Amino acid sequence: MNTTFREFLNEEIAKFGTPTWRILESPQGARVCIKGKWKISLCSNNYLGLANHPSLKEAAAHALEEYGAGSAAARSLSGSTQLHEDLEQELADFKGTEAALAFNSGNVTNLGVIPALVRKGDAVFSDAINHGSLIDGCRLSGAEKYIYPHGDMSLLEKLLGDAMHLRNRMIVVDSVFSMDGDTAPLPQIVELAEEYDAIVMVDEAHATGVLGKHGRGALEHFGLEDRVDVIMGTLGKALGSVGGYIAGSIELISYLARTARSFLFTTSLPASSIAAALAGVRKLRDDPELRERLWRNTNFYKGELAQLGFNTMDSKSPIVPILIGDDEVTERFCQRLCEEGLYVTKIGTPYVPEGTSRLRTIVTAAHNEEDLGEAVDILKSVGSELRII
Ligand SMILES: *Cc1c(COP(=O)(O)O)cnc(C)c1O
Repeated sequence: MNTTFREFLNEEIAKFGTPTWRILESPQGARVCIKGKWKISLCSNNYLGLANHPSLKEAAAHALEEYGAGSAAARSLSGSTQLHEDLEQELADFKGTEAALAFNSGNVTNLGVIPALVRKGDAVFSDAINHGSLIDGCRLSGAEKYIYPHGDMSLLEKLLGDAMHLRNRMIVVDSVFSMDGDTAPLPQIVELAEEYDAIVMVDEAHATGVLGKHGRGALEHFGLEDRVDVIMGTLGKALGSVGGYIAGSIELISYLARTARSFLFTTSLPASSIAAALAGVRKLRDDPELRERLWRNTNFYKGELAQLGFNTMDSKSPIVPILIGDDEVTERFCQRLCEEGLYVTKIGTPYVPEGTSRLRTIVTAAHNEEDLGEAVDILKSVGSELRII
C-alpha cells in the first residue's frame, strides 16, 4: 500500500476511532441475539415490526423462487417485473398521489431527485438538521443553498424573499427529524412556499406508517397531502424491506424516471425485496392495530422516561432521544446498558452536533409490555449508577 496513503488513513481513523457495530445472530425484533445473549432492542427503525413479519418473508420467498436472486440491470435497460409496477401503483394509491417511482434506497432517492429538480440558477432551502441524504442531494444539485436554523420559519421567509431573482425555488425538509424525533412545522412551510412560489419536497422516512390517521405520514397528520408536490419515503423503515420512493403527479414521476441519475445508473432492487415492500404496504394499509400498538408503546415508554427525569428533547414520534451531552459518558451509558441486556446505540458526531451526544431509542409495535417494563428498569438502574438521573 502507498505509504502516504496509509498514513493519511491512519490519521483519519485516529480521529474517529475504528468502526464498530454489533453482529446480530437473529432477525430484527423486540429482542435480538448478540454473542449468544438475547437483548431488548431499542435501536431499529422497525416501527411496525414488519422486518421479520411472516407475510413479508413469504412474499419475498415466493418472488425469489419466481424471479431469482438478482435483477441484472437498471429497469430501463433490462426490464422490470410486474411486482415493481404493482408496488409503485399501491404506494401511489396509499399516498393519494397519481404515481410513484421506486429507488434502491431512501438515501439514493434524495441524491437523485434533488439534482433532477433544481440546478444551477435555482435555489434550494434546507433545514439545518435535515437528513444527510437531503444535504448531499442539495450539494450535488449545484443550486444556490439556503440553510435555515432548525425550524426557524422567520428566517426561511427571509431567505425565500432573498431568492426571488433565482429561477425556481424548492424547500426540502424531513417531516420527522431522524435524530431528534420532532416534526417540521409543515403548515407554515407550505404557506410560505405558496406565498413565495416555491415547491416543497417532504421526506417522510420516519413518518410513513407512524403518523396520520391511516399511517400515511406527517402530511396526512397535518392535512396537507394535496399541497405538497414531491413526497419522498423509504421502504426500509416502517415498511420492513429496503428501497426508497417518490410519490407525486404523473408528470413528476415520468420526468424523474428519465432524469434521476440514481434511478438510471443502477441495478434495480430484486423482486424479493420489492415483494416484501409490497406486502409491507398492504400490511400497513390493512392492519391499523400495528400502528395503535406502536403509539400505545411509545406513550407508555415516554411517560416512564419523563418520570425518571431523562431529557427526551421535543420528540413527537416513536424516536425518543435520551440527551446526555458528553460523548464519553454517553458511550459508557450505552455500554453498561448493553451489558445489562438493553441494546441501544450512541449517536454522536457526525450524526449530531458535538456536545449533544445522546442515545436514540426507538419503540416499535414488536415490543410488548414486558419488554418495555424491563427496558425502563434497566435505564433506571444504569442511569442512577452513572448519575445521569
Ligand atoms: C433513513 C432516512 C433516509 C434514508 O433512507 P434509507 O432507505 O435508509 O436509505 C432518508 N431520509 C431520512 C429522513 C431518513 O431517516
